[in-house]
Amino acid sequence: MAQLTEDMAIVLRASPFKERDKLVTFLTENHGRITGVARNSIHSKRFGGTLDLFACSKISYKEGSGELVWLDEANLRRDFLKIREKLENISAAGYFVDLCLRLTEENHPVREVFMLLAHYLYLLEEHTATFEIVRSFEIKLLERLGWAPVLDECVSCTAPFFGEELSPEESFVTLATEQGGFLCHNCATPNARHIPLASLLWMIQARETMIQHTHTLHFPLDPMMEAAGTLQYFLRWHAPGLGKYRFRSHGMLEQFLLEAREDARELLASGAIGSMLGDPESFGEMPEMPPSGPDHGPDMRAPF
Ligand SMILES: [Zn+2]
Repeated sequence: MAQLTEDMAIVLRASPFKERDKLVTFLTENHGRITGVARNSIHSKRFGGTLDLFACSKISYKEGSGELVWLDEANLRRDFLKIREKLENISAAGYFVDLCLRLTEENHPVREVFMLLAHYLYLLEEHTATFEIVRSFEIKLLERLGWAPVLDECVSCTAPFFGEELSPEESFVTLATEQGGFLCHNCATPNARHIPLASLLWMIQARETMIQHTHTLHFPLDPMMEAAGTLQYFLRWHAPGLGKYRFRSHGMLEQFLLEAREDARELLASGAIGSMLGDPESFGEMPEMPPSGPDHGPDMRAPF
C-alpha cells in the first residue's frame, strides 16, 4: 500500500479525464507542482469545490506509477470565490496561476512561489487588480524562482545605473535577456530593445513593496508599459518551448487594466498596445534558452 502524502495545494488547472475522473494540476507548499487523478470526481460530490481553479486545500495523495499521483482526499481551506466577482480579478488570478503552471517544475519544491501565489489570491479577494499589482507579481515571481533580473547595474561592466546625474542618452539601457539584465549605453548592443531607466526604477519599487501594499502603488503609464513588455521577455526566457503561447487571460487582463486608467485613453484608442505589452506575436526573433543549459538547470535555482 503506497504511503499517503499530505500537503497544502492550490489548483492551477483541472480538466476532465476519462469518463468520471478529473486531471488536476496543483502547486503544493512542499512538493512543487504535481498532477493528480481525482477518481469519480465528475459526477460525485466527493471532492466538493476543492478541484475548482484557485481553490486552496489540504490534499492527501498516493504516488502513482508514473508522474501522476492518485488524489485521495481534499479538505477545502479557501475557495477564493470572491475573486470571481470581478472580471479583471478572474483574469489576473488566471494569469498568475498559468505563470506558476508554466514556470515551475513537477516535484521541484518552490515553497516561496506557493506562498506568493496564495498571498496574491488573498489580495485579489480584497482589491481590484491593477497594472501595478500585476507587474509586482511578475517581478516577485521571477525573484522567488531565482531569476530576478539585475536592475541596478550593467550586467556587462557593472556600472551602476543610478546615483549620478544622467545625460539623455544615459537615461536608456538595453535589454540583455540572456545575461539576466540590462546593458549600459557603453556596452549596448545594436538593435536591442531600449528601456528607459525609469522603468527599471518602477520595477525595483514593485519588487520591494510588500504584497499587501501593492494595491497602493501608482506608476506613470509609459515606463510601466515598457516594464510590462520587458518582464514578458524575462518570464518567457525561463519557460522554454512556449513559442507564441499566450499566458492564460493575459491579453484580456491588460486590456481591462488599461481601460481602468484615465491616462491610457489615448493609447487604447491608437490600438498599439500589443507590441508594448510583450504580445508574443510582436516578439520577432526571440532568443531560445537551451533546454537544460548549465546556468539555468534546476540546481542553479535559489535555495529556498
Ligand atoms: Zn556596461
